[in-house]
Amino acid sequence: MEVPKKQRDFFASQKTKDVAYRKKALKRLQKEILAREDDVCKALYADFKKPEFETLVAETQFVLAELKVMLKNMEFWARPERVSSILANWPSSDYLYREPYGTVLLIAPWNYPFQLVFAPLVGAVAAGNTVVVKPSELTPNTSQIITEIVAKVFEPGHVSVVEGGVEVSQQLLVQKWDYIFFTGSTKVGQIVYESAAKHLTPVTLELGGKNPCIVDDSASIKLTAKRIVWGKFLNAGQTCIASDYILVHRKVKAALIEALKKSIQDGFGDISQASDDYARIVNEKHHARLKTMLEGQDILFGGISDDTDNYLSPTLVDEPQMDSPLMEGEIFGPILPIIAYETEEDIDNHISHYGKPLATYIFSNRKSFQKKMLDKYSFGGGCINDTVIQISNKKLPFGGVGASGLGGYHGKASFEIFSNQKGIIKKANWFDAPLRYPPYKLPNKIVKMIKHLF
Ligand code: NAD
Repeated sequence: MEVPKKQRDFFASQKTKDVAYRKKALKRLQKEILAREDDVCKALYADFKKPEFETLVAETQFVLAELKVMLKNMEFWARPERVSSILANWPSSDYLYREPYGTVLLIAPWNYPFQLVFAPLVGAVAAGNTVVVKPSELTPNTSQIITEIVAKVFEPGHVSVVEGGVEVSQQLLVQKWDYIFFTGSTKVGQIVYESAAKHLTPVTLELGGKNPCIVDDSASIKLTAKRIVWGKFLNAGQTCIASDYILVHRKVKAALIEALKKSIQDGFGDISQASDDYARIVNEKHHARLKTMLEGQDILFGGISDDTDNYLSPTLVDEPQMDSPLMEGEIFGPILPIIAYETEEDIDNHISHYGKPLATYIFSNRKSFQKKMLDKYSFGGGCINDTVIQISNKKLPFGGVGASGLGGYHGKASFEIFSNQKGIIKKANWFDAPLRYPPYKLPNKIVKMIKHLF
């Protein structure tokens, strides 16, 4: 394959070692995204009727915010960082050098097809790597605009796009890379990890999961419902960090259901298909998959679909069986199961049934309950009394743990994951302690002293 060689040769030219060169490229990217923002909105609308507001907030402006943080700080982050020395090496000065890995393969999914290409790309370029991007084949209009933007902004060996589906992705994965950054399903993440292991290539895996949303009996119900509905039905539920299911205390279950219904109606009207603010399912296959999940379920609200439009209305499901398809894996669509609990053991039975999720949300006005849940469960990130917004703070690394992924990025964390951290000690020559050299015939007193040097 020609592409990785081109990127490798470009990396070998040392051009990307110059931070000013990287900065100039990122500034061109910033300018181009601003210039093409309307086209990006149109592309995402053509792909799955993504509302313009959602594209601005979660795709273009999201990437522009990432660019802003990176452009402001990358020079500083790229400098060797002085760390304190240890007495045993005296006299020395010690540093952390951050160097680019080399050539990065970046594979993206379809659900936030613009953001999930450009947010990691900004980090990879800022850290000085050359990059090959493989966007999702399921959002072809966005894939095309990504290709156009990259071709206009970057020299071909610096960043280039390879469009295509699973086969293209497989061909790319056979190659040797210096780093692989993958966003997608846990199943494909395992394939990527296996391919990377063959060459001992380091990876970041941004995967999915079954994200619980716990609502205890002290929660502010109306606000809780509003915030759950917003985070769940944004992008028609096709968000990796959306609540997958609700665990609600039995005492407040009925009130929460009523509040959820009202919030859905307030947001999308009586017919969400007619709302400009509600996206579609990405394709027929995923639409059919979601409809199958609803078979045999007790639908409390919604459940309306239209095959001609890949439309599925915001849907609430009551108490699904744990072994039903709806509860087997990640839903990744606008279906929200609601399950009552009475004891903390009930919560545990559900959460422990799945691998570590990408996100967990806790709605409670009780600090002790919030703390208990945070301390007890391991997950990528989350919120107390809100959903999804943990992704927006560039100071919080974003990523999963265990089954939901490996490694976190955004802001400084992005710069760091795309950099190899080299520890360097610069030793002075004016003094050379004789003790470390053989023969090691030292008096006991000195041996004792040495133990305190480390
Ligand atoms: P996917 O895993 O099917 O595809 C992701 C990418 O991998 C695509 O570019 C695709 O072409 C490629 N691919 C698919 N099958 C492959 C194979 N067998 N071998 C090699 N490459 C292959 O995921 P998707 O359907 O595009 O996206 C949805 C998933 O992504 C969900 O599970 C969601 O939770 C997850 N996701 C995670 C994050 C995150 O940040 N953690 C963000 C968005 C989506």
